[in-house]
Amino acid sequence: MAANHVSISTERRKKHRFVLNIDRIPHLTADEKARLKPVTDRYAFRANEYYLSLIDWNDPHDPIRRLVIPDEIELRPWGMLDASKESDVTVRQGVQHKYGRVALLLVNEVCAAFCRYCFRKRLFMNGNDEVTYDIEPGIDYIRHHPEIDNVLLTGGDPMILKTSRLEKILAALRQIDHVRIIRIGTKMPAFNPFRFLEDDRLMEVLKRYSLPDRRIYMMCHYDHPRELTPQSHEAIQRLLEAGVICVNQNPIIRGISDDPDVMAELWNELSFIGVQQYYVFQCRPTVGNGAYAIPIVEAYRKVEEAKRKCGGLAKRLRFLMSHESGKIEVVGVDHRYIYMKYHRARHQVDEQRFIVCHRDDSAYWLDQLKPVEGYENKYYRDSFQLPSFR
Ligand code: SF4
Repeated sequence: MAANHVSISTERRKKHRFVLNIDRIPHLTADEKARLKPVTDRYAFRANEYYLSLIDWNDPHDPIRRLVIPDEIELRPWGMLDASKESDVTVRQGVQHKYGRVALLLVNEVCAAFCRYCFRKRLFMNGNDEVTYDIEPGIDYIRHHPEIDNVLLTGGDPMILKTSRLEKILAALRQIDHVRIIRIGTKMPAFNPFRFLEDDRLMEVLKRYSLPDRRIYMMCHYDHPRELTPQSHEAIQRLLEAGVICVNQNPIIRGISDDPDVMAELWNELSFIGVQQYYVFQCRPTVGNGAYAIPIVEAYRKVEEAKRKCGGLAKRLRFLMSHESGKIEVVGVDHRYIYMKYHRARHQVDEQRFIVCHRDDSAYWLDQLKPVEGYENKYYRDSFQLPSFR
């Protein structure tokens, strides 16, 4: 459906309300709630009525359900709390600076719902202080680093902030001449598109600060075509009308986005409404995520199969690992080897560097891949284990 054919009257728009306790979900049985309690005690649960309304409760494998409803399997030991060692590139509270021209500002620690596979679930845990509510030290850092021309607002989800707060952040960044692009990492168009439909002031603010020579990019996060509801189409339409560039990035997640038909449908549909699929990420080996991750070789093959079902504009994406050493694109797999290349590198010596490793169909992460003679992978450790959950 073309976005400009979509029009939802305000009266028909369902109000968004948070659901912070699984006890409030009538579709789960008392037994299910009791079994899931230890999971939500460990890894926070958050949803909202709109997003829960997308679930087909008759389907135990419904992808939206899988994305947001906890699963006991999350309690099985697997992965690390900070798989990409983001704390190593934290230069001030709430500021990450890993790649020369890009800085990240972590401006809040919640989202409109929580993805069960979240790679930043540590932010939702008590005692975490990686996020900042005082952006002045971060703004000051960026001001004194003229090489930074891209700032990514992230968290959590910046679009959950009040419009007045977001406006202050955008205004402060726009006073720094060398900051050209402001990116906003958000799953709000999927989790709660009403954020963009019911707040005209938000759209005015975005329009004011997305300038012809210094745009705002909305780094959307759709995982499944079912999230592209008429309301979500309309949210994208409003963003485009405000002069905001919209792209999409998401991880490959078992049972949600690991079907080539589903991937292709998502990327094609996004291309129709003016959203380019930018990155597809290998699932980071984060705690609780064992059942959501798929091995690199399987993920690569599925991405390639999905690409064959896409138009050219829908498949301009890159499939990569967001590793502590940089963004590593998986560019090929044959019967013996996995071929990779640094798309972005934390250290200059790795820029564009090619890596060839022995093929291991059970490997989930670079640290498990043994380099072929003549190529270097200093992160390879024989002892690095990530058991398969299949
Ligand atoms: S939207 Fe991003 S930060 Fe928020 S829960 Fe999902 S993966 Fe985590």
